[in-house]
Amino acid sequence: MAKPAFGAVDRFKWFAALLVIAIHTGPLDSYSPKADFLIIGVLARLAVPFFFAASGYFFFGKLTGEWERDRTALRKFLVRIGLLYGAGIAAYLPLNVYSGYFEEPRSAWGYASDLLFNGTFYHLWYLPALMLGTCIVYALRLRLTDRMMLAAASVLYAFALLGDSYYGLAEQSSFLAGLYDHLFRVFDYTRNGIGFAPLYIGLGAALARGGVKERSLSWLSTAFLASLSLLVVEGIALRDAGWPRHDSMYVVLVPAVYYLFRLLLALGGAQRRQARQASTWIYLLHPLAIVGVRGIAKATGLTSVLVRDSLVHYAAVALLSIGLAAAVGRIVRISERWKRCGDNLPHRAWTEIDLDYFAHNANVLRSRLPAGTELMAVVKADAYGHGSVRVAKRLYAEGVRSFAVAEIDEAIALRKGGVRGDILVLGYTPTHRLRELSRYRLTQTVVNAEDAERLQAAGKKLRVHVKIDTGMNRLGEPWERIERILSIYRQSRLQVSGTFSHLAAADGMKPGDIAFTRVQVVRFEEVVRQLRAAGIDPGKLHLQSSYGIVNYPELRYDLARPGIALYGLLSNERDKLRSGLDLRPVLSLKATVTRVNDVRAGEFVGYGRSFAALRDSRIATLSIGYADGIPRGLPERGGCVLVRGRRAPMVGKICMDQMTVDVTDIDDDVRQGDTVTLIGQDGEERITVEEVAGWAGTISNEIVSSLGARLDRQYLERTS
Ligand SMILES: *Cc1c(COP(=O)(O)O)cnc(C)c1O
Repeated sequence: MAKPAFGAVDRFKWFAALLVIAIHTGPLDSYSPKADFLIIGVLARLAVPFFFAASGYFFFGKLTGEWERDRTALRKFLVRIGLLYGAGIAAYLPLNVYSGYFEEPRSAWGYASDLLFNGTFYHLWYLPALMLGTCIVYALRLRLTDRMMLAAASVLYAFALLGDSYYGLAEQSSFLAGLYDHLFRVFDYTRNGIGFAPLYIGLGAALARGGVKERSLSWLSTAFLASLSLLVVEGIALRDAGWPRHDSMYVVLVPAVYYLFRLLLALGGAQRRQARQASTWIYLLHPLAIVGVRGIAKATGLTSVLVRDSLVHYAAVALLSIGLAAAVGRIVRISERWKRCGDNLPHRAWTEIDLDYFAHNANVLRSRLPAGTELMAVVKADAYGHGSVRVAKRLYAEGVRSFAVAEIDEAIALRKGGVRGDILVLGYTPTHRLRELSRYRLTQTVVNAEDAERLQAAGKKLRVHVKIDTGMNRLGEPWERIERILSIYRQSRLQVSGTFSHLAAADGMKPGDIAFTRVQVVRFEEVVRQLRAAGIDPGKLHLQSSYGIVNYPELRYDLARPGIALYGLLSNERDKLRSGLDLRPVLSLKATVTRVNDVRAGEFVGYGRSFAALRDSRIATLSIGYADGIPRGLPERGGCVLVRGRRAPMVGKICMDQMTVDVTDIDDDVRQGDTVTLIGQDGEERITVEEVAGWAGTISNEIVSSLGARLDRQYLERTS
């Protein structure tokens, strides 16, 4: 399954941080200056551009399409990196004071250029360069194709290259030499600021957009090793020619980093969050470790070993950096946990969504279907109350590449949330919204032949799936009107990529229902046959929703459209039992006990005196009501909740925001602040959505999709 996995990228980040330490310590310096140059002047130079490329890939990967104009993501990124930069400046301030930074005469402009470009301490230039480079790529991408964006970034790169390891070339022209002379008053090196970073960030961004030709691992390794060899040749040749003023930039570094990054993406592997985070801290902290090792060497009189032996020195700095990074990482994680405890704990009423079960349920459904039938996950109605963006993203990570929603705004919400893949709008889209379909790369359902004419008249090319009515009599062009159906496919502006229908009685087990479903299938097949006979490609075919998969798994189409079953539910308890499928319900619903009170026999509870206590009772008040989606009819029809692992019957009328339950028979002391479970497991007891639906006289689908918008949502996710 195409699960994006960045384990190799994460691991290499950690390794790249060690390469940066090498640049600043020279591990082989006391052994062989030539070998040392090979490592720190050439090979280790992969590290920083690799960081840029990875940053571009992940940042721009989250933005695709028109909502790139939404600047919040960029702003957040800049704030995050800016804070890190600020912390870095503060941390290295004492060292700057110590090394006499503030004693040198410097103009205000000198300070400003250090802050903007040079980073105030030698390694910190990376952070302002990352921010500037990301802004530049962001601006270029909005206006240009990826190719043109990369061309523009290459111009900047070439210019910076002439001030770096190709400086000898620039010096041969007095004009250029003069120009760079001016430049070096502002930039310590031309790789600082805007020359170096944009090209690599841009490469990452372009890769994130996808569409590059797939290559095998061996192809990518060969390409990487070939560019690496050329890089060595380039580095040595330039050094022999005496051109470099600095050695961070090369021509062949560009393909080398590109193929390295693609190779790591292709290698995949489970993500290594700790390695990724450690790489940042190692990068930021290693200059402190260098100072630390020198200090330790001096204090212990071990200078001759710890500093003069370059390899031991490198090892000591690396170890100390790793240790410091682990300590800081730990502090950051603890403080994050604290913050989470404070801000995010739900307190009134909330759902818990166990995202891992989507992986399970998707696999259950896939394994029931013929090989080659893929899932189109139906995430309409905010993913049946589960939160469409989070759900779709998780399913995407599980290899699902098609989604369906009821209407255009649901589809746009998915795109704005960063969901990739195909999105089919199942319902009608009014004429004044049609332009947005192409803007957000959506696929529209053609609901009949008139609709096709209307879509054609909109004047834009539209991606569509054609709906055929095979007996549901809801949407679609009726199956027997074949001439009208053919006319839809002949509309020049409609790019038909699919044809589908909907089963009306796939859940029914009565002979009549089964016969009816078979008729629907035959009608659908007949339409497909006629289309093909007319030389028309109907695109991807799909017919089954959840019950189609459960009861007619043998049907072999390109896609199946499960909704309710993906959420681990079926319409009712009986079907769930009969299906024999191990579907796991994703959602739990919880609330809090806000008061526990003793009520004497004969007293009433709630509106309309509807409940009279027949005995002395303990009544718990819960912070959830019909505005949260609890059907008002439940108390009269046996509705219960779970408190302390036991069932407590609902009593009195359900109010808008509150309800009452009888906890007299629960031995454990029920207390204010206790969590109650309205759907889900508590101890040995479980209340399913199907059971609630049974009390309410409806189907599970209605219960979950009617859950109120003000419920908090807690997402649980173990495997990422
Ligand atoms: C809602 C819907 C589905 C999903 O139905 P489930 O029964 O929840 O699986 C599939 N196809 C269409 C056209 C729908 O409207």
